[in-house]
Amino acid sequence: MDRPRFVIEAAEAKSMAQKAGLTLHQLLPTLVKPAQTLARPPISKFHVGAVGLGSSGRIFMGVNMEFPGVPLNQSIHAEQFLITNLVLNAEPHLRYFAVSAAPCGHCRQFLQEIRNATHIKLTITETDCDCEPKYQHLSHFLPDRFGPDDLLDKDVPLLLETHQNGLKFNGYPQNIICNGNGQIPEKLKLAALDAANKSHAPYSKCPSGVALMDCEGKFYQGSYMESAAYNPSLGPVQAALVAYVAGGGGGYERIVAAVLVEMEGVVVRQQHTVKSLLEEISPKCEFHLFYCVQDFNVSR
Ligand SMILES: [Zn+2]
Repeated sequence: MDRPRFVIEAAEAKSMAQKAGLTLHQLLPTLVKPAQTLARPPISKFHVGAVGLGSSGRIFMGVNMEFPGVPLNQSIHAEQFLITNLVLNAEPHLRYFAVSAAPCGHCRQFLQEIRNATHIKLTITETDCDCEPKYQHLSHFLPDRFGPDDLLDKDVPLLLETHQNGLKFNGYPQNIICNGNGQIPEKLKLAALDAANKSHAPYSKCPSGVALMDCEGKFYQGSYMESAAYNPSLGPVQAALVAYVAGGGGGYERIVAAVLVEMEGVVVRQQHTVKSLLEEISPKCEFHLFYCVQDFNVSR
Protein backbone atom coordinates (compact mmCIF):
# COMPACT_ATOMS: atom_id res chain seq x y z
CA MET A 1 0.00 0.00 0.00
CA ASP A 2 1.20 3.51 -0.76
CA ARG A 3 2.26 5.50 2.27
CA PRO A 4 0.05 8.51 2.91
CA ARG A 5 1.76 11.61 1.61
CA PHE A 6 1.91 14.88 3.50
CA VAL A 7 3.93 16.84 0.92
CA ILE A 8 3.27 17.07 -2.83
CA GLU A 9 6.20 18.36 -4.86
CA ALA A 10 5.66 21.47 -6.99
CA ALA A 11 5.85 19.75 -10.39
CA GLU A 12 3.34 17.10 -9.37
CA ALA A 13 1.00 19.68 -7.81
CA LYS A 14 1.10 21.65 -11.04
CA SER A 15 0.29 18.62 -13.16
CA MET A 16 -2.53 17.55 -10.79
CA ALA A 17 -4.07 21.02 -11.14
CA GLN A 18 -3.67 21.01 -14.93
CA LYS A 19 -5.31 17.58 -15.23
CA ALA A 20 -8.25 18.76 -13.14
CA GLY A 21 -8.51 22.03 -15.09
CA LEU A 22 -7.91 24.01 -11.90
CA THR A 23 -5.44 26.56 -10.61
CA LEU A 24 -3.29 25.50 -7.66
CA HIS A 25 -5.38 27.36 -5.13
CA GLN A 26 -8.56 25.86 -6.60
CA LEU A 27 -6.97 22.42 -6.23
CA LEU A 28 -6.41 22.76 -2.46
CA PRO A 29 -10.06 22.27 -1.34
CA THR A 30 -10.28 19.06 -3.41
CA LEU A 31 -7.46 17.58 -1.29
CA VAL A 32 -9.03 18.36 2.08
CA LYS A 33 -11.28 15.28 2.31
CA PRO A 34 -8.46 12.82 1.59
CA ALA A 35 -6.34 14.66 4.17
CA GLN A 36 -9.10 14.30 6.79
CA THR A 37 -8.84 10.51 6.56
CA LEU A 38 -5.26 10.77 7.89
CA ALA A 39 -6.28 12.54 11.12
CA ARG A 40 -5.80 10.79 14.49
CA PRO A 41 -8.52 12.12 16.83
CA PRO A 42 -9.44 9.18 19.09
CA ILE A 43 -11.12 11.47 21.66
CA SER A 44 -13.28 13.82 19.59
CA LYS A 45 -13.54 11.59 16.49
CA PHE A 46 -13.66 14.95 14.68
CA HIS A 47 -11.37 14.66 11.67
CA VAL A 48 -9.84 17.92 10.49
CA GLY A 49 -7.76 18.36 7.35
CA ALA A 50 -5.82 21.46 6.30
CA VAL A 51 -4.10 21.71 2.92
CA GLY A 52 -1.70 24.56 2.22
CA LEU A 53 0.18 25.97 -0.77
CA GLY A 54 3.69 27.25 -0.08
CA SER A 55 5.58 29.88 -2.05
CA SER A 56 7.70 27.09 -3.59
CA GLY A 57 4.59 25.66 -5.23
CA ARG A 58 4.61 22.62 -2.97
CA ILE A 59 1.41 21.47 -1.28
CA PHE A 60 1.43 20.48 2.40
CA MET A 61 -1.13 18.53 4.45
CA GLY A 62 -2.07 18.95 8.08
CA VAL A 63 -4.35 16.85 10.28
CA ASN A 64 -5.42 16.89 13.92
CA MET A 65 -3.95 14.53 16.52
CA GLU A 66 -5.27 13.76 20.03
CA PHE A 67 -3.69 11.71 22.81
CA PRO A 68 -5.84 9.79 25.32
CA GLY A 69 -4.50 9.86 28.87
CA VAL A 70 -3.11 13.39 28.86
CA PRO A 71 -4.75 16.83 29.04
CA LEU A 72 -6.53 18.07 25.93
CA ASN A 73 -4.09 20.95 25.52
CA GLN A 74 -1.51 18.39 24.38
CA SER A 75 -3.55 17.94 21.17
CA ILE A 76 -2.29 19.10 17.80
CA HIS A 77 -4.66 20.95 15.49
CA ALA A 78 -4.58 20.47 11.73
CA GLU A 79 -3.38 24.02 11.15
CA GLN A 80 -0.53 23.54 13.65
CA PHE A 81 0.36 20.28 11.92
CA LEU A 82 0.35 22.10 8.58
CA ILE A 83 2.68 24.84 9.85
CA THR A 84 4.99 22.26 11.47
CA ASN A 85 5.04 20.43 8.14
CA LEU A 86 6.14 23.68 6.44
CA VAL A 87 8.88 24.13 9.06
CA LEU A 88 10.09 20.53 8.65
CA ASN A 89 10.41 21.07 4.90
CA ALA A 90 12.01 24.55 5.16
CA GLU A 91 9.14 26.15 3.24
CA PRO A 92 9.57 29.92 3.48
CA HIS A 93 5.94 31.00 3.08
CA LEU A 94 2.35 29.85 3.27
CA ARG A 95 0.26 31.52 0.54
CA TYR A 96 -3.12 29.76 0.66
CA PHE A 97 -4.76 27.05 2.70
CA ALA A 98 -8.04 25.21 2.72
CA VAL A 99 -9.35 23.67 5.93
CA SER A 100 -12.34 21.44 6.64
CA ALA A 101 -13.68 23.39 9.64
CA ALA A 102 -13.34 26.97 10.80
CA PRO A 103 -9.94 27.47 12.48
CA CYS A 104 -10.20 27.81 16.25
CA GLY A 105 -8.98 30.94 18.01
CA HIS A 106 -5.67 29.30 19.00
CA CYS A 107 -4.85 28.45 15.40
CA ARG A 108 -5.77 31.91 14.13
CA GLN A 109 -3.34 33.19 16.76
CA PHE A 110 -0.62 30.59 16.07
CA LEU A 111 -0.62 31.55 12.37
CA GLN A 112 0.38 35.09 13.37
CA GLU A 113 3.94 33.79 13.95
CA ILE A 114 4.41 33.74 10.17
CA ARG A 115 5.70 37.02 8.69
CA ASN A 116 2.97 38.93 6.83
CA ALA A 117 0.42 36.49 8.24
CA THR A 118 -2.39 38.87 7.41
CA HIS A 119 -1.80 38.15 3.69
CA ILE A 120 -2.32 34.38 4.00
CA LYS A 121 -5.56 33.43 2.29
CA LEU A 122 -7.81 30.70 3.58
CA THR A 123 -11.05 28.99 2.72
CA ILE A 124 -13.23 26.74 4.85
CA THR A 125 -14.43 23.78 2.81
CA GLU A 126 -17.37 22.69 4.97
CA THR A 127 -19.18 25.89 4.08
CA ASP A 128 -18.31 25.66 0.41
CA CYS A 129 -20.21 23.99 -2.38
CA ASP A 130 -18.52 22.77 -5.55
CA CYS A 131 -18.37 26.33 -6.79
CA GLU A 132 -15.28 28.53 -6.87
CA PRO A 133 -13.62 28.44 -3.42
CA LYS A 134 -13.95 31.72 -1.60
CA TYR A 135 -10.60 32.65 -0.05
CA GLN A 136 -10.33 35.42 2.49
CA HIS A 137 -7.31 36.96 4.14
CA LEU A 138 -6.37 35.77 7.60
CA SER A 139 -6.95 39.34 8.79
CA HIS A 140 -10.65 38.75 8.07
CA PHE A 141 -10.62 35.85 10.57
CA LEU A 142 -8.51 37.66 13.17
CA PRO A 143 -8.93 41.43 13.03
CA ASP A 144 -7.13 43.63 15.58
CA ARG A 145 -4.51 40.97 15.98
CA PHE A 146 -1.97 40.65 18.76
CA GLY A 147 1.23 39.17 17.40
CA PRO A 148 5.01 39.17 17.15
CA ASP A 149 5.04 42.86 16.17
CA ASP A 150 3.75 43.71 19.66
CA LEU A 151 6.66 41.99 21.41
CA LEU A 152 9.63 41.57 19.08
CA ASP A 153 12.00 43.75 17.11
CA LYS A 154 11.38 43.63 13.35
CA ASP A 155 14.61 41.74 12.61
CA VAL A 156 13.89 38.76 14.89
CA PRO A 157 13.30 35.66 12.72
CA LEU A 158 9.69 34.51 12.66
CA LEU A 159 8.34 31.01 12.43
CA LEU A 160 9.14 30.01 8.84
CA GLU A 161 12.47 31.86 8.81
CA THR A 162 15.93 30.44 9.49
CA HIS A 163 16.79 30.09 13.17
CA GLN A 164 20.20 29.45 14.71
CA ASN A 165 19.94 29.44 18.47
CA GLY A 166 23.62 28.79 19.12
CA LEU A 167 23.05 25.73 21.31
CA LYS A 168 25.72 23.14 21.93
CA PHE A 169 26.53 20.34 24.33
CA ASN A 170 29.71 22.03 25.49
CA GLY A 171 30.35 20.77 29.01
CA TYR A 172 26.93 19.15 29.25
CA PRO A 173 27.21 15.75 27.68
CA GLN A 174 25.62 14.03 30.67
CA ASN A 175 22.34 12.25 30.48
CA ILE A 176 20.09 13.91 33.05
CA ILE A 177 17.04 11.69 32.95
CA CYS A 178 17.14 8.23 31.52
CA ASN A 179 14.63 5.44 31.94
CA GLY A 180 16.37 2.94 29.71
CA ASN A 181 19.79 1.38 29.39
CA GLY A 182 21.22 4.68 28.17
CA GLN A 183 22.46 3.20 24.93
CA ILE A 184 21.14 5.68 22.46
CA PRO A 185 22.74 6.59 19.16
CA GLU A 186 24.88 9.73 19.25
CA LYS A 187 23.14 10.78 16.05
CA LEU A 188 19.77 10.87 17.83
CA LYS A 189 21.20 13.27 20.42
CA LEU A 190 22.58 15.46 17.65
CA ALA A 191 19.21 15.39 15.85
CA ALA A 192 17.54 16.69 19.03
CA LEU A 193 20.21 19.41 19.37
CA ASP A 194 19.65 20.38 15.74
CA ALA A 195 15.89 20.61 16.40
CA ALA A 196 16.56 22.82 19.44
CA ASN A 197 18.74 25.07 17.32
CA LYS A 198 15.83 25.55 14.90
CA SER A 199 13.33 26.20 17.72
CA HIS A 200 11.22 29.36 17.54
CA ALA A 201 11.30 30.61 21.14
CA PRO A 202 11.80 34.37 20.90
CA TYR A 203 9.46 35.17 23.81
CA SER A 204 10.80 32.94 26.58
CA LYS A 205 14.25 32.45 25.00
CA CYS A 206 14.02 28.81 26.09
CA PRO A 207 14.46 26.83 22.86
CA SER A 208 14.17 23.06 22.86
CA GLY A 209 14.01 20.14 20.49
CA VAL A 210 13.02 16.48 20.46
CA ALA A 211 14.22 13.62 18.30
CA LEU A 212 12.33 10.32 18.18
CA MET A 213 13.57 6.98 16.89
CA ASP A 214 11.26 4.21 15.70
CA CYS A 215 11.85 0.47 15.87
CA GLU A 216 13.40 0.53 12.38
CA GLY A 217 15.98 3.09 13.49
CA LYS A 218 14.41 6.00 11.60
CA PHE A 219 14.63 9.49 13.18
CA TYR A 220 11.98 12.19 13.47
CA GLN A 221 12.81 15.62 14.86
CA GLY A 222 10.64 18.44 16.16
CA SER A 223 11.36 21.98 17.32
CA TYR A 224 9.50 23.86 20.03
CA MET A 225 7.49 26.74 18.53
CA GLU A 226 6.17 29.64 20.58
CA SER A 227 3.25 31.97 20.03
CA ALA A 228 3.22 35.62 21.11
CA ALA A 229 0.07 34.71 23.04
CA TYR A 230 1.89 31.82 24.82
CA ASN A 231 -0.97 29.29 25.08
CA PRO A 232 -1.10 28.37 21.38
CA SER A 233 2.62 27.41 21.48
CA LEU A 234 3.43 23.92 20.21
CA GLY A 235 5.72 21.69 22.26
CA PRO A 236 8.78 19.94 20.82
CA VAL A 237 7.36 16.45 21.29
CA GLN A 238 4.19 17.47 19.43
CA ALA A 239 6.34 18.80 16.57
CA ALA A 240 8.33 15.54 16.52
CA LEU A 241 5.08 13.54 16.48
CA VAL A 242 3.98 15.59 13.46
CA ALA A 243 7.25 14.58 11.79
CA TYR A 244 6.54 10.96 12.79
CA VAL A 245 3.06 10.94 11.26
CA ALA A 246 4.08 12.96 8.19
CA GLY A 247 7.07 10.67 7.74
CA GLY A 248 4.84 7.62 7.51
CA GLY A 249 5.19 6.47 11.13
CA GLY A 250 2.59 3.93 12.24
CA GLY A 251 1.37 3.30 15.78
CA TYR A 252 3.10 5.31 18.49
CA GLU A 253 4.26 2.09 20.20
CA ARG A 254 6.79 1.84 17.37
CA ILE A 255 8.62 4.84 18.87
CA VAL A 256 11.40 3.25 20.93
CA ALA A 257 13.64 6.15 21.97
CA ALA A 258 13.28 9.87 22.49
CA VAL A 259 15.79 12.61 23.26
CA LEU A 260 14.87 16.06 24.54
CA VAL A 261 17.48 18.83 24.45
CA GLU A 262 16.90 22.02 26.42
CA MET A 263 18.82 24.39 28.68
CA GLU A 264 19.21 23.82 32.41
CA GLY A 265 17.22 25.85 34.92
CA VAL A 266 15.41 28.04 32.40
CA VAL A 267 11.90 29.41 32.97
CA VAL A 268 10.18 27.25 30.34
CA ARG A 269 11.05 23.56 30.57
CA GLN A 270 9.60 20.74 28.49
CA GLN A 271 11.02 17.71 30.31
CA HIS A 272 7.99 16.72 32.41
CA THR A 273 5.48 17.26 29.61
CA VAL A 274 7.50 15.37 27.02
CA LYS A 275 8.15 12.46 29.38
CA SER A 276 4.53 12.14 30.51
CA LEU A 277 3.10 12.28 26.98
CA LEU A 278 5.53 9.63 25.74
CA GLU A 279 4.77 7.40 28.74
CA GLU A 280 1.12 7.43 27.74
CA ILE A 281 1.45 6.88 24.01
CA SER A 282 4.51 4.63 23.92
CA PRO A 283 5.12 3.14 27.39
CA LYS A 284 8.24 1.23 26.34
CA CYS A 285 9.91 4.25 24.75
CA GLU A 286 13.21 5.21 26.39
CA PHE A 287 13.30 8.89 27.28
CA HIS A 288 16.54 10.86 27.58
CA LEU A 289 17.08 14.46 28.55
CA PHE A 290 20.28 16.30 27.69
CA TYR A 291 21.07 19.83 28.70
CA CYS A 292 22.78 22.21 26.33
CA VAL A 293 24.31 25.66 26.68
CA GLN A 294 23.86 28.70 24.50
CA ASP A 295 26.78 30.26 22.73
CA PHE A 296 25.64 33.84 22.31
CA ASN A 297 28.29 34.49 19.66
CA VAL A 298 26.40 32.40 17.16
CA SER A 299 22.82 32.71 18.39
CA ARG A 300 20.32 34.62 16.38
ZN1 LIG B 1 -7.18 25.07 16.09
